[in-house]
Amino acid sequence: MSDRIRFENVSKFYGEVLGVNRVDLSLGPGITALVGPNGSGKSTLMNLMTGLLRPTRGRVEVLGISPRDPADLLPRVGYCTQYDAFPRGVKGRQLLLSTLRFHGIRGEEARQSADRVLDRVQLAYAARRKVAGYSKGMRQRIKLASALVHEPRILVLDEPLNGLDPMARAELIGLFQELATEGRHVIVSSHILHEVDMIADRVVLLNQGYVVARGDIPEVREEMTEHPLQILVRSPEAPDLAGIFFRHEHVVQVELLDDRKGLIVKTRRPESLYLLLNRLVVEEDLPVESVAPADEDVLAVYEYLIGPEGEVV
Ligand code: ADP
Ligand code: MG
Repeated sequence: MSDRIRFENVSKFYGEVLGVNRVDLSLGPGITALVGPNGSGKSTLMNLMTGLLRPTRGRVEVLGISPRDPADLLPRVGYCTQYDAFPRGVKGRQLLLSTLRFHGIRGEEARQSADRVLDRVQLAYAARRKVAGYSKGMRQRIKLASALVHEPRILVLDEPLNGLDPMARAELIGLFQELATEGRHVIVSSHILHEVDMIADRVVLLNQGYVVARGDIPEVREEMTEHPLQILVRSPEAPDLAGIFFRHEHVVQVELLDDRKGLIVKTRRPESLYLLLNRLVVEEDLPVESVAPADEDVLAVYEYLIGPEGEVV
């Protein structure tokens, strides 16, 4: 059986509206990041590879199976959509048991699978609580658990890091890496390249329905190092943080915001900055409210990857 997810000249139109156009991809196991601004076609690609959508043109094949054969594909795929919708009043463990029932797994086997995956996403303590009362990070984890509980080979996760604080993000990222190490496909989407570039084995950059760049992360990262990236850090202790950042050689500039509760940090190695921030939050208990690329969207990144006009390659 093939271990690849293949797109051959795939286009998807919603009536007149372009979803994705002429996509050719062949993805192996490991972490693949689909990155692009809103409307660039990330969710469309995910819906195509999970069989929720049929291509208008071209061919999709997942592990050698056509998504037209849902009975063959469904056991092998777990999909977290970008939406945060849960059945009303559902509790964490109950959600997993109903997912398992959908896959035809019941009884003791289902209970064991549910408990195993709850441990894995560190939600055992909240298993009997209503999902509606979960924090954003817990909701992302129960969604992941629900995609993972039937042990699929392919996990498709639409914006799984969206809205998470640095700690919750680091935890989830650790899990993605474990899952990839087990030989699974982990496909994650994001509109922020720097959220995923440090963890992905390969990245596919999308813009307006086209694949505009793709490659192994080391190549993309190399290009990055020549272009310092700006990151906005919000913290009541911004002046102290500024002093700490300055001592790191990858930081090329630190600018304190007028309200003294935020910093714009220019760094050549965003991943080192994120690691440093995680350490400061965890070990030194420094209050950090938010961390985000200062560029509004990923277009700034495209500019230096593909040229100022964003022309299609
Ligand atoms: P992303 O996930 O990157 O934000 P999408 O795949 O959701 O991008 O959207 C790609 C394009 O397809 C956008 O122009 C969007 O408006 C359009 N689109 C997505 N879903 C639909 C739909 N169900 N009906 C019509 N247009 C859609
Ligand atoms: Mg989307």
